[in-house]
Amino acid sequence: MAEFDFVIIGAGMAGASAGYELAAHGRVLILEQEDQPGYHTTGRSAALYAETYGNATVRALTTGGKGFYLDPPAGFAAHPLLLPRGVVFIGRPDQRGALDRLLEEVAGLRSNIRRLGVAELENRVPVFRPGYVADAVLDPDAMDIDVHGLHQGYLRGLKARGGQLLTDAQVRGLSRQAGLWQVETKAGLFQARVLVNAAGAWADEIGALAGTKPIGLVPKRRTAIQFRPPAGLDIAHWPSVIDADEQFYFRPDAGKIMASPADETPMPPCDVQPEELDIAILVDRLEKVVTMPILRIEHRWAGLRSFVADKTPVIGYDEQVQDFFWLAGQGGYGIQTAPGIARLVRALACRQPVPSDLADLGVTEAAVSPARLR
Ligand SMILES: Cc1cc2nc3c(=O)[nH]c(=O)nc-3n(C[C@H](O)[C@H](O)[C@H](O)COP(=O)(O)OP(=O)(O)OC[C@H]3O[C@@H](n4cnc5c(N)ncnc54)[C@H](O)[C@@H]3O)c2cc1C
Repeated sequence: MAEFDFVIIGAGMAGASAGYELAAHGRVLILEQEDQPGYHTTGRSAALYAETYGNATVRALTTGGKGFYLDPPAGFAAHPLLLPRGVVFIGRPDQRGALDRLLEEVAGLRSNIRRLGVAELENRVPVFRPGYVADAVLDPDAMDIDVHGLHQGYLRGLKARGGQLLTDAQVRGLSRQAGLWQVETKAGLFQARVLVNAAGAWADEIGALAGTKPIGLVPKRRTAIQFRPPAGLDIAHWPSVIDADEQFYFRPDAGKIMASPADETPMPPCDVQPEELDIAILVDRLEKVVTMPILRIEHRWAGLRSFVADKTPVIGYDEQVQDFFWLAGQGGYGIQTAPGIARLVRALACRQPVPSDLADLGVTEAAVSPARLR
Protein backbone atom coordinates (compact mmCIF):
# COMPACT_ATOMS: atom_id res chain seq x y z
CA MET A 1 0.00 0.00 0.00
CA ALA A 2 1.47 3.38 -1.03
CA GLU A 3 2.34 5.71 1.85
CA PHE A 4 2.55 9.53 1.58
CA ASP A 5 3.43 12.42 3.87
CA PHE A 6 0.45 14.42 2.61
CA VAL A 7 -2.66 13.09 0.92
CA ILE A 8 -4.76 15.98 -0.40
CA ILE A 9 -8.43 15.44 -1.17
CA GLY A 10 -9.53 17.58 -4.14
CA ALA A 11 -7.59 18.80 -7.18
CA GLY A 12 -9.25 22.19 -7.64
CA MET A 13 -7.18 25.34 -7.22
CA ALA A 14 -6.87 24.79 -3.46
CA GLY A 15 -5.61 21.20 -3.65
CA ALA A 16 -3.34 21.82 -6.67
CA SER A 17 -1.65 24.89 -5.17
CA ALA A 18 -1.25 23.29 -1.74
CA GLY A 19 0.11 20.13 -3.38
CA TYR A 20 2.71 22.14 -5.28
CA GLU A 21 3.94 23.87 -2.12
CA LEU A 22 3.87 20.75 0.08
CA ALA A 23 5.71 18.67 -2.53
CA ALA A 24 8.79 20.71 -1.59
CA HIS A 25 8.53 19.15 1.90
CA GLY A 26 7.40 15.57 1.43
CA ARG A 27 5.69 12.92 -0.67
CA VAL A 28 2.34 14.27 -1.91
CA LEU A 29 -0.65 12.53 -3.48
CA ILE A 30 -3.71 14.48 -4.65
CA LEU A 31 -6.92 12.46 -4.98
CA GLU A 32 -9.68 13.81 -7.24
CA GLN A 33 -13.12 12.24 -7.63
CA GLU A 34 -13.69 13.55 -11.17
CA ASP A 35 -11.78 12.45 -14.26
CA GLN A 36 -10.48 15.99 -14.77
CA PRO A 37 -9.10 18.33 -12.10
CA GLY A 38 -10.79 21.73 -11.94
CA TYR A 39 -14.18 20.39 -13.05
CA HIS A 40 -16.10 22.00 -10.17
CA THR A 41 -15.77 25.55 -8.78
CA THR A 42 -12.24 26.20 -10.07
CA GLY A 43 -13.34 25.80 -13.69
CA ARG A 44 -16.34 28.11 -13.25
CA SER A 45 -14.92 31.32 -11.76
CA ALA A 46 -15.05 34.92 -12.98
CA ALA A 47 -11.22 35.10 -12.91
CA LEU A 48 -11.05 38.42 -11.10
CA TYR A 49 -8.00 39.43 -9.08
CA ALA A 50 -8.76 42.46 -6.92
CA GLU A 51 -6.99 43.41 -3.72
CA THR A 52 -10.08 45.49 -2.91
CA TYR A 53 -12.45 42.47 -2.97
CA GLY A 54 -13.30 40.48 0.19
CA ASN A 55 -12.71 41.04 3.91
CA ALA A 56 -9.41 42.13 5.46
CA THR A 57 -7.93 38.61 5.74
CA VAL A 58 -8.98 37.75 2.18
CA ARG A 59 -7.43 40.98 0.91
CA ALA A 60 -4.19 40.27 2.79
CA LEU A 61 -4.01 36.73 1.38
CA THR A 62 -4.64 38.14 -2.10
CA THR A 63 -1.86 40.69 -1.79
CA GLY A 64 0.37 38.01 -0.25
CA GLY A 65 0.21 36.04 -3.50
CA LYS A 66 0.78 38.95 -5.86
CA GLY A 67 4.54 38.40 -6.07
CA PHE A 68 3.98 34.80 -7.20
CA TYR A 69 1.37 35.87 -9.75
CA LEU A 70 3.60 38.55 -11.26
CA ASP A 71 6.85 36.62 -11.11
CA PRO A 72 6.20 32.86 -10.94
CA PRO A 73 9.11 30.41 -10.89
CA ALA A 74 10.84 29.83 -14.26
CA GLY A 75 8.84 27.49 -16.49
CA PHE A 76 5.68 27.69 -14.33
CA ALA A 77 3.53 29.34 -17.01
CA ALA A 78 3.90 30.10 -20.71
CA HIS A 79 1.91 33.37 -20.46
CA PRO A 80 1.45 36.08 -17.81
CA LEU A 81 -0.89 34.88 -15.05
CA LEU A 82 -2.41 38.35 -14.57
CA LEU A 83 -3.50 40.81 -17.24
CA PRO A 84 -4.43 44.47 -16.65
CA ARG A 85 -8.16 45.11 -16.33
CA GLY A 86 -9.15 47.43 -13.43
CA VAL A 87 -12.37 47.23 -11.48
CA VAL A 88 -15.00 49.91 -10.91
CA PHE A 89 -17.55 49.65 -8.11
CA ILE A 90 -20.61 51.68 -9.14
CA GLY A 91 -23.60 53.04 -7.25
CA ARG A 92 -26.92 54.81 -7.69
CA PRO A 93 -27.60 57.90 -5.52
CA ASP A 94 -28.96 55.66 -2.72
CA GLN A 95 -25.76 53.54 -2.77
CA ARG A 96 -23.35 56.39 -2.04
CA GLY A 97 -23.03 55.20 1.58
CA ALA A 98 -21.88 51.74 0.44
CA LEU A 99 -19.21 53.29 -1.79
CA ASP A 100 -18.09 55.62 1.03
CA ARG A 101 -17.63 52.60 3.31
CA LEU A 102 -15.75 50.68 0.61
CA LEU A 103 -13.38 53.58 -0.04
CA GLU A 104 -12.79 54.10 3.67
CA GLU A 105 -11.82 50.43 4.02
CA VAL A 106 -9.54 50.11 1.00
CA ALA A 107 -8.12 53.61 0.38
CA GLY A 108 -5.12 52.80 2.58
CA LEU A 109 -4.12 49.81 0.42
CA ARG A 110 -2.76 51.90 -2.46
CA SER A 111 -2.72 55.58 -3.41
CA ASN A 112 -4.27 54.96 -6.85
CA ILE A 113 -7.59 53.64 -5.47
CA ARG A 114 -9.91 56.58 -5.94
CA ARG A 115 -13.34 57.97 -6.73
CA LEU A 116 -14.10 58.00 -10.43
CA GLY A 117 -16.17 60.84 -11.83
CA VAL A 118 -19.33 59.82 -13.68
CA ALA A 119 -18.10 61.48 -16.89
CA GLU A 120 -14.81 59.57 -16.71
CA LEU A 121 -16.69 56.31 -16.07
CA GLU A 122 -19.04 56.90 -19.01
CA ASN A 123 -16.05 57.66 -21.16
CA ARG A 124 -14.54 54.25 -20.32
CA VAL A 125 -17.79 52.24 -20.37
CA PRO A 126 -20.18 54.13 -22.66
CA VAL A 127 -23.29 52.02 -22.08
CA PHE A 128 -24.79 53.23 -18.78
CA ARG A 129 -28.33 54.54 -18.83
CA PRO A 130 -28.24 58.31 -18.35
CA GLY A 131 -28.61 59.19 -14.67
CA TYR A 132 -28.16 55.61 -13.38
CA VAL A 133 -24.66 55.91 -11.92
CA ALA A 134 -24.19 58.58 -9.27
CA ASP A 135 -20.82 57.56 -7.90
CA ALA A 136 -17.97 55.12 -8.56
CA VAL A 137 -14.74 53.84 -7.01
CA LEU A 138 -11.86 52.67 -9.21
CA ASP A 139 -9.16 50.14 -8.37
CA PRO A 140 -6.99 50.41 -11.49
CA ASP A 141 -4.71 47.53 -10.43
CA ALA A 142 -7.38 44.80 -10.47
CA MET A 143 -6.56 42.17 -13.06
CA ASP A 144 -7.84 39.20 -15.05
CA ILE A 145 -6.44 35.86 -13.92
CA ASP A 146 -5.37 33.11 -16.32
CA VAL A 147 -7.09 30.52 -14.09
CA HIS A 148 -6.29 27.57 -16.35
CA GLY A 149 -2.64 28.66 -16.63
CA LEU A 150 -2.31 28.95 -12.85
CA HIS A 151 -4.03 25.62 -12.14
CA GLN A 152 -2.04 23.73 -14.78
CA GLY A 153 1.18 25.41 -13.63
CA TYR A 154 0.60 24.11 -10.11
CA LEU A 155 -0.18 20.58 -11.32
CA ARG A 156 2.89 20.51 -13.60
CA GLY A 157 5.03 21.85 -10.77
CA LEU A 158 3.62 19.21 -8.41
CA LYS A 159 4.73 16.46 -10.78
CA ALA A 160 8.16 18.06 -11.33
CA ARG A 161 8.62 17.96 -7.54
CA GLY A 162 7.76 14.25 -7.43
CA GLY A 163 4.12 14.66 -6.36
CA GLN A 164 1.27 12.64 -7.85
CA LEU A 165 -2.29 13.32 -8.97
CA LEU A 166 -4.83 10.53 -9.22
CA THR A 167 -8.16 11.31 -10.90
CA ASP A 168 -11.30 9.19 -10.81
CA ALA A 169 -10.34 8.44 -7.21
CA GLN A 170 -13.25 9.45 -5.01
CA VAL A 171 -12.41 9.23 -1.29
CA ARG A 172 -15.02 7.00 0.38
CA GLY A 173 -13.60 6.11 3.78
CA LEU A 174 -11.11 7.54 6.28
CA SER A 175 -9.73 5.88 9.39
CA ARG A 176 -6.56 5.86 11.46
CA GLN A 177 -4.27 2.92 12.12
CA ALA A 178 -0.88 2.96 13.82
CA GLY A 179 -0.65 6.75 13.54
CA LEU A 180 -1.42 6.86 9.82
CA TRP A 181 -4.54 7.79 7.89
CA GLN A 182 -6.01 4.93 5.85
CA VAL A 183 -7.61 6.54 2.79
CA GLU A 184 -10.11 4.33 1.03
CA THR A 185 -10.86 5.42 -2.55
CA LYS A 186 -12.51 4.20 -5.70
CA ALA A 187 -8.96 3.67 -7.01
CA GLY A 188 -7.55 1.78 -4.03
CA LEU A 189 -6.22 2.28 -0.52
CA PHE A 190 -3.53 4.82 0.45
CA GLN A 191 -1.80 5.77 3.67
CA ALA A 192 -1.02 9.30 4.80
CA ARG A 193 0.79 10.93 7.65
CA VAL A 194 -1.30 14.10 7.15
CA LEU A 195 -4.64 14.46 5.40
CA VAL A 196 -5.41 17.80 3.69
CA ASN A 197 -9.10 18.46 3.12
CA ALA A 198 -9.34 20.60 -0.05
CA ALA A 199 -12.66 19.12 -1.17
CA GLY A 200 -14.36 22.46 -1.94
CA ALA A 201 -18.13 22.27 -1.40
CA TRP A 202 -17.69 18.73 -0.02
CA ALA A 203 -15.25 19.72 2.76
CA ASP A 204 -17.69 19.15 5.64
CA GLU A 205 -18.60 15.75 4.17
CA ILE A 206 -14.91 14.77 4.13
CA GLY A 207 -14.66 16.08 7.69
CA ALA A 208 -17.55 13.80 8.70
CA LEU A 209 -15.76 10.77 7.18
CA ALA A 210 -12.77 11.63 9.36
CA GLY A 211 -14.87 12.19 12.50
CA THR A 212 -14.43 15.98 12.79
CA LYS A 213 -17.06 18.46 13.91
CA PRO A 214 -18.45 20.46 10.96
CA ILE A 215 -17.08 23.92 10.23
CA GLY A 216 -20.56 25.01 9.07
CA LEU A 217 -19.63 25.26 5.40
CA VAL A 218 -22.45 26.50 3.15
CA PRO A 219 -22.03 26.03 -0.62
CA LYS A 220 -23.85 28.84 -2.47
CA ARG A 221 -24.79 28.78 -6.13
CA ARG A 222 -23.51 31.60 -8.32
CA THR A 223 -24.67 31.96 -11.90
CA ALA A 224 -22.87 33.46 -14.88
CA ILE A 225 -23.61 34.10 -18.54
CA GLN A 226 -21.60 35.18 -21.56
CA PHE A 227 -23.10 37.23 -24.38
CA ARG A 228 -21.84 38.98 -27.48
CA PRO A 229 -21.59 42.81 -27.24
CA PRO A 230 -23.45 44.89 -29.85
CA ALA A 231 -21.54 45.21 -33.13
CA GLY A 232 -19.06 48.09 -33.23
CA LEU A 233 -18.75 48.43 -29.44
CA ASP A 234 -15.10 48.15 -28.41
CA ILE A 235 -15.14 46.51 -25.00
CA ALA A 236 -11.51 45.36 -24.92
CA HIS A 237 -10.36 47.97 -22.40
CA TRP A 238 -13.44 48.15 -20.20
CA PRO A 239 -12.79 47.51 -16.53
CA SER A 240 -14.80 44.94 -14.59
CA VAL A 241 -17.92 46.65 -13.22
CA ILE A 242 -19.38 45.62 -9.85
CA ASP A 243 -22.54 46.97 -8.22
CA ALA A 244 -21.79 48.65 -4.85
CA ASP A 245 -24.08 46.13 -3.08
CA GLU A 246 -22.90 43.25 -5.30
CA GLN A 247 -26.26 42.75 -7.01
CA PHE A 248 -24.56 42.18 -10.39
CA TYR A 249 -21.23 42.44 -12.15
CA PHE A 250 -20.01 42.34 -15.72
CA ARG A 251 -16.67 42.36 -17.53
CA PRO A 252 -15.11 41.73 -20.92
CA ASP A 253 -14.19 38.09 -21.41
CA ALA A 254 -12.40 36.96 -24.58
CA GLY A 255 -14.26 39.43 -26.83
CA LYS A 256 -17.62 38.79 -25.16
CA ILE A 257 -19.24 40.05 -21.97
CA MET A 258 -19.45 37.87 -18.90
CA ALA A 259 -22.08 38.85 -16.34
CA SER A 260 -23.53 37.52 -13.09
CA PRO A 261 -26.50 38.37 -10.85
CA ALA A 262 -24.12 37.69 -7.92
CA ASP A 263 -26.64 35.17 -6.55
CA GLU A 264 -25.84 33.26 -3.36
CA THR A 265 -28.39 30.44 -3.09
CA PRO A 266 -27.48 27.82 -0.44
CA MET A 267 -27.22 24.32 -1.97
CA PRO A 268 -25.98 20.87 -1.01
CA PRO A 269 -22.67 20.01 -2.71
CA CYS A 270 -23.36 18.87 -6.29
CA ASP A 271 -22.58 19.44 -9.96
CA VAL A 272 -24.60 22.64 -9.91
CA GLN A 273 -26.35 23.98 -12.99
CA PRO A 274 -27.76 27.46 -13.72
CA GLU A 275 -31.45 28.21 -13.08
CA GLU A 276 -33.49 30.14 -15.67
CA LEU A 277 -34.89 32.39 -12.93
CA ASP A 278 -31.42 33.63 -11.90
CA ILE A 279 -30.61 34.39 -15.53
CA ALA A 280 -33.91 36.28 -15.92
CA ILE A 281 -33.10 38.29 -12.77
CA LEU A 282 -29.67 39.16 -14.17
CA VAL A 283 -31.07 40.27 -17.53
CA ASP A 284 -33.68 42.39 -15.74
CA ARG A 285 -31.05 44.02 -13.48
CA LEU A 286 -28.67 44.72 -16.36
CA GLU A 287 -31.39 46.21 -18.54
CA LYS A 288 -32.04 48.81 -15.81
CA VAL A 289 -28.33 49.75 -15.74
CA VAL A 290 -27.07 49.64 -19.33
CA THR A 291 -28.43 50.46 -22.75
CA MET A 292 -26.72 47.57 -24.58
CA PRO A 293 -29.17 44.80 -25.47
CA ILE A 294 -28.50 41.20 -24.41
CA LEU A 295 -29.43 39.68 -27.73
CA ARG A 296 -28.27 36.10 -27.36
CA ILE A 297 -26.80 34.33 -24.36
CA GLU A 298 -24.02 32.17 -25.78
CA HIS A 299 -22.92 30.39 -22.64
CA ARG A 300 -24.38 29.94 -19.17
CA TRP A 301 -23.03 28.20 -16.11
CA ALA A 302 -23.12 28.07 -12.32
CA GLY A 303 -20.67 27.12 -9.61
CA LEU A 304 -20.65 26.71 -5.85
CA ARG A 305 -18.87 29.30 -3.71
CA SER A 306 -18.52 27.78 -0.25
CA PHE A 307 -18.44 29.98 2.84
CA VAL A 308 -18.26 29.63 6.61
CA ALA A 309 -20.03 32.16 8.84
CA ASP A 310 -17.32 34.88 8.81
CA LYS A 311 -16.55 34.48 5.08
CA THR A 312 -12.86 33.87 5.86
CA PRO A 313 -11.06 30.74 4.60
CA VAL A 314 -10.48 27.84 7.01
CA ILE A 315 -6.81 26.86 7.06
CA GLY A 316 -5.20 24.78 9.78
CA TYR A 317 -5.14 21.52 11.72
CA ASP A 318 -8.37 20.31 13.27
CA GLU A 319 -8.13 20.88 17.02
CA GLN A 320 -9.52 17.43 17.86
CA VAL A 321 -8.83 15.00 15.04
CA GLN A 322 -5.10 14.41 14.72
CA ASP A 323 -3.22 15.23 11.49
CA PHE A 324 -6.37 16.43 9.72
CA PHE A 325 -5.71 19.75 7.96
CA TRP A 326 -8.56 21.99 6.74
CA LEU A 327 -8.25 23.98 3.50
CA ALA A 328 -11.80 25.13 2.80
CA GLY A 329 -14.23 28.05 2.74
CA GLN A 330 -12.44 30.16 0.10
CA GLY A 331 -15.86 31.43 -1.01
CA GLY A 332 -15.62 33.79 -3.98
CA TYR A 333 -11.90 34.43 -3.57
CA GLY A 334 -10.21 31.04 -3.93
CA ILE A 335 -8.41 31.88 -7.17
CA GLN A 336 -7.07 35.30 -6.30
CA THR A 337 -5.91 34.09 -2.87
CA ALA A 338 -4.49 30.72 -4.04
CA PRO A 339 -0.76 31.60 -4.20
CA GLY A 340 -0.90 33.37 -0.82
CA ILE A 341 -2.96 30.61 0.81
CA ALA A 342 -0.74 27.84 -0.60
CA ARG A 343 2.33 29.36 1.05
CA LEU A 344 0.37 29.65 4.31
CA VAL A 345 -0.66 25.98 4.02
CA ARG A 346 2.95 24.98 3.47
CA ALA A 347 3.97 26.75 6.71
CA LEU A 348 1.05 25.68 8.91
CA ALA A 349 0.88 22.07 7.67
CA CYS A 350 4.62 21.79 8.46
CA ARG A 351 3.89 23.32 11.90
CA GLN A 352 5.83 26.49 11.16
CA PRO A 353 4.71 30.07 11.88
CA VAL A 354 2.80 32.24 9.40
CA PRO A 355 5.35 33.44 6.76
CA SER A 356 6.62 36.85 7.84
CA ASP A 357 5.41 38.72 4.73
CA LEU A 358 1.87 37.38 5.27
CA ALA A 359 2.05 38.22 8.99
CA ASP A 360 3.14 41.77 8.07
CA LEU A 361 0.02 42.05 5.91
CA GLY A 362 -2.10 41.10 8.95
CA VAL A 363 -2.68 37.35 8.39
CA THR A 364 -2.88 35.48 11.70
CA GLU A 365 -3.21 31.77 12.43
CA ALA A 366 -6.20 32.52 14.69
CA ALA A 367 -8.14 34.33 11.94
CA VAL A 368 -8.08 31.29 9.64
CA SER A 369 -8.03 28.48 12.22
CA PRO A 370 -10.94 25.98 12.29
CA ALA A 371 -11.01 26.39 16.08
CA ARG A 372 -12.53 29.89 15.70
CA LEU A 373 -15.71 28.32 14.31
CA ARG A 374 -16.51 25.93 17.16
C1 LIG B 1 -19.39 32.04 -10.73
C2 LIG B 1 -18.15 32.09 -9.85
C3 LIG B 1 -17.31 33.19 -9.92
C4 LIG B 1 -16.14 33.22 -9.16
N1 LIG B 1 -15.30 34.27 -9.34
C5 LIG B 1 -14.12 34.30 -8.68
C6 LIG B 1 -13.19 35.35 -8.92
O1 LIG B 1 -13.44 36.24 -9.74
N2 LIG B 1 -12.01 35.35 -8.23
C7 LIG B 1 -11.71 34.36 -7.31
O2 LIG B 1 -10.64 34.41 -6.70
N3 LIG B 1 -12.59 33.35 -7.07
C8 LIG B 1 -13.78 33.30 -7.72
N4 LIG B 1 -14.66 32.29 -7.49
C9 LIG B 1 -14.37 31.34 -6.41
C10 LIG B 1 -13.33 30.30 -6.78
O3 LIG B 1 -13.66 29.74 -8.03
C11 LIG B 1 -13.27 29.24 -5.66
O4 LIG B 1 -13.01 29.85 -4.41
C12 LIG B 1 -12.20 28.19 -5.91
O5 LIG B 1 -12.29 27.67 -7.21
C13 LIG B 1 -12.32 27.06 -4.89
O6 LIG B 1 -11.37 26.07 -5.22
P1 LIG B 1 -11.40 24.67 -4.51
O7 LIG B 1 -10.21 23.92 -4.97
O8 LIG B 1 -11.56 24.87 -3.03
O9 LIG B 1 -12.76 24.00 -4.97
P2 LIG B 1 -13.07 23.06 -6.26
O10 LIG B 1 -12.51 23.65 -7.49
O11 LIG B 1 -14.53 22.77 -6.24
O12 LIG B 1 -12.25 21.73 -5.95
C14 LIG B 1 -12.65 20.81 -4.96
C15 LIG B 1 -12.41 19.45 -5.56
O13 LIG B 1 -12.61 18.44 -4.57
C16 LIG B 1 -13.08 17.29 -5.24
N5 LIG B 1 -13.70 16.36 -4.28
C17 LIG B 1 -14.78 16.59 -3.51
N6 LIG B 1 -15.08 15.48 -2.79
C18 LIG B 1 -14.14 14.55 -3.09
C19 LIG B 1 -13.90 13.20 -2.68
N7 LIG B 1 -14.70 12.58 -1.79
N8 LIG B 1 -12.84 12.55 -3.21
C20 LIG B 1 -12.01 13.14 -4.12
N9 LIG B 1 -12.22 14.42 -4.56
C21 LIG B 1 -13.25 15.11 -4.05
C22 LIG B 1 -14.09 17.86 -6.23
O14 LIG B 1 -14.37 16.98 -7.28
C23 LIG B 1 -13.40 19.14 -6.69
O15 LIG B 1 -12.67 18.96 -7.89
C24 LIG B 1 -15.83 32.19 -8.24
C25 LIG B 1 -16.69 31.08 -8.16
C26 LIG B 1 -17.83 31.03 -8.96
C27 LIG B 1 -18.72 29.83 -8.87
